[in-house]
Amino acid sequence: MGISQKHVVVIGGGPGGYVAALRAAQLGAHVTLVEKKHLGGTCLNVGCIPTKALIHIAEFLNSIHESPNFGVKLSLEEINWSQVLSYKNSVVQTLVKGVEGLLRSNKINVINGTAQFIRPKTIEIQKADNTSEVLEADRIIVATGSVPVIPPIDGLKESHFVIDSTGALNMNSLPASMVIIGGGVIGIEMAYVLNAFGCNITIVEALPTLVPTMDQELAELLLRILEKQGVVVMLGCKVSAIIDGEQGAKVVVSTGGTETEIKAEKVLCAVGRRPYTEDLSPDLGGIKTEKGRILVNEYLETTIPGVYAIGDCVGKTMLAHTAYAMGELAAENAMGEHLVYNPNCVPVGIYGFPEMASVGLTEEQAKEKKISYHVGRFPLSGNGRALIANGGEGMVKVLIGDELDEILGVHILAPNAMEMIGEGAVAIQMEGTAEELINTIHAHPTISEAIREAVLSSQGRAIHMPNKKKKGAG
Ligand code: NAD
Repeated sequence: MGISQKHVVVIGGGPGGYVAALRAAQLGAHVTLVEKKHLGGTCLNVGCIPTKALIHIAEFLNSIHESPNFGVKLSLEEINWSQVLSYKNSVVQTLVKGVEGLLRSNKINVINGTAQFIRPKTIEIQKADNTSEVLEADRIIVATGSVPVIPPIDGLKESHFVIDSTGALNMNSLPASMVIIGGGVIGIEMAYVLNAFGCNITIVEALPTLVPTMDQELAELLLRILEKQGVVVMLGCKVSAIIDGEQGAKVVVSTGGTETEIKAEKVLCAVGRRPYTEDLSPDLGGIKTEKGRILVNEYLETTIPGVYAIGDCVGKTMLAHTAYAMGELAAENAMGEHLVYNPNCVPVGIYGFPEMASVGLTEEQAKEKKISYHVGRFPLSGNGRALIANGGEGMVKVLIGDELDEILGVHILAPNAMEMIGEGAVAIQMEGTAEELINTIHAHPTISEAIREAVLSSQGRAIHMPNKKKKGAG
């Protein structure tokens, strides 16, 4: 380490931590990264990446089912579940090795161990080789992630058949039936996957809608598509108990004073995640937390100057890409910048068939904030590429501000919606207007043409569908 070099310690090697480490090294710091398990964290090892690998295979299965419609009749010979898992694991391994290589080439010192604060700006590391080391650093960036929430349901903790999302990605065999507690992002993605693999799925969601934080008009469409695919969705229902049997569990579901019992081979609990700081002793480091989440200011600095926290452990938007963004920003600030983290334009979404993606304000949020807006919609039945991809199921919906004509929100239910949402993110980030988006020529045939058509429809001038007559028009 050079005499004038800053020592930056990063705790946690997930998407937040490894990106922070790389950026700090690029800016000239001597960087130590402490990780207790696997580099890549939840996203690479037991989250985004393995789930998407399974979704990729599930898409093949759906294609086989649909093949007779195209005059190419395919049939499924067998599903070799252990080979499915090997493929998924090989993708994970390749990416984890990639992260290892990036850290090595940036001369980052990676320590395999668990870090705990013993006083402000000083940590003790219990290493995997049973030794320990005390490190004092100029700057520390905490990125310890999150763990699944375990709800207080009778019999859930004791059940042999209840799994969390990590367990769902590593089941020994494919279950014939599964109850999924929670109709959020994980619940829906796993429902899409396992339903395609032939497992009977029932989603039990406590609230009256699926994905309550996303646009509700699209959530309603998504619900109908899931049901059409054969997934049973019980809204406004709570699981009150889980009773283990020989071959599976009995799930007791209560709604409006009545109780139903559903038998399932497995029960997936997906009711959210919570920040993870248990091993860290943030209090000994002088770092304030609230309900387990580390408190940070707009510079992502904790209550101790020079100590930053990023990603899921901060407990705001728990997404890999917000962790990436926070990681880069915290590294810059640790190296002397004063950048403010602005999470106003964060794309969110659900992978599946079709995907659902959103950026900016939902209609519900615009109403709550009393922003005056108008809406444009374009159903995918009017889009050639979507018709080919999935029969034209889905919709694009945009929200435009009345005052400045600015794009406020873009919501897409479509094949590849997660690839398309970047257009909405750029438009909102650059404070783009409806007119500017309309004046942008979109390639044909693409599903993204539907974004432009939705904006056109907000002005009653969509080309590829009839427009609603404006009030007072003849
Ligand atoms: P979530 O917050 O998305 O959904 C949890 C759902 O469970 C909510 O709809 C909630 O109303 C419901 N719920 C809570 N308690 C319940 C109960 N007792 N009975 C029935 N329903 C109940 O959480 P998640 O799906 O577990 O995902 C966890 C985190 O991982 C989220 O922050 C999510 O953003 C992230 N994630 C993101 C992606 C992605 O970006 N595609 C994929 C997977 C996970």
